[in-house]
Amino acid sequence: MQSTVGCSVNSCKYNDKGRHCTLQDITIGSGQDSGEARTKKETECESFVSEI
Ligand code: SF4
Repeated sequence: MQSTVGCSVNSCKYNDKGRHCTLQDITIGSGQDSGEARTKKETECESFVSEI
């Protein structure tokens, strides 16, 4: 079953290089100790694993 999580991070080992994540569950964090992201850029995928 193809994941419904769209992702364009091609350098992640879980990315199918077709703009989807292959994991069934991912965790997103705020990137801030306070947990209070204010912009999209302050959110980040904590499930990311570099394949580079
Ligand atoms: S784990 Fe995160 S960064 Fe990696 S492909 Fe999935 S959504 Fe993208």
